[in-house]
Amino acid sequence: MVLTGAGLSTDSGIPDYRGPDAPARTPMTFQEFVAGPEAHQRYWARSHLGWARMGHAVPNAGHRAVAALGADLVITQNVDGLHEAAGTPRLVALHGRVADVVCLSCGSTTARTALQDRLEQANPGWAARHADVANRPDGDVALEDTAGFVVPPCEGCGGPLKPDVVFFGENVPKARVERCYAAVESLAATGGTLLVAGSSLTVMSGLRFVRRATQRDVPVVIVNRGPTRGDALATHLVSEGTSDWLPALAAVRTA
Ligand SMILES: [Zn+2]
Repeated sequence: MVLTGAGLSTDSGIPDYRGPDAPARTPMTFQEFVAGPEAHQRYWARSHLGWARMGHAVPNAGHRAVAALGADLVITQNVDGLHEAAGTPRLVALHGRVADVVCLSCGSTTARTALQDRLEQANPGWAARHADVANRPDGDVALEDTAGFVVPPCEGCGGPLKPDVVFFGENVPKARVERCYAAVESLAATGGTLLVAGSSLTVMSGLRFVRRATQRDVPVVIVNRGPTRGDALATHLVSEGTSDWLPALAAVRTA
């Protein structure tokens, strides 16, 4: 079983906000988002501009190696969709994906690309009128005045739409967590190993699976540049970049 984090995607040009060179960042919290229509306006107006400008990242050698490892389950904390793009079977996107949108009322999910078209139709010329707004990291933009931006509702029920990613202050859906715990339990039953790749395990949403593995005497291998919050729990620590080390591991396993 493999658990991956932001370090895996840095070689695809996606910054690791917990890394040593991370830019300061204050993302909108879940509580801020659900506060009301003004928050939705602010979020989606900025997202609309940022999405249109964002270059599209592609999987790197680390993602391709994870796909080739043949793991029982890959859990990723990343929302960038690059494991999916690399064709990884048996994947849980623990914190969701920026490519998906969820309705807060009926729970249905739709594609972010489809919403981008609806945002464009509802706000003709918005992107052109704000062409001078500066870019921020991670597809965000420095847009302050978002009054007048029209946010289309869910096409099914008219409810408010939210990107299908777990915000700060929001819990990972329970069924998703239970699937991951069940995979750890089956590792214990089958003599498997948990490999943590490119995560500093800063947040409990990933660290808890490492703790459960240790409680069940499942060996834990951590490959990451720099220390992690799980180092004391690890059977082996590998201080290497994932784009180098994972392809070497995949080559050994498939030889
Ligand atoms: Zn709905």
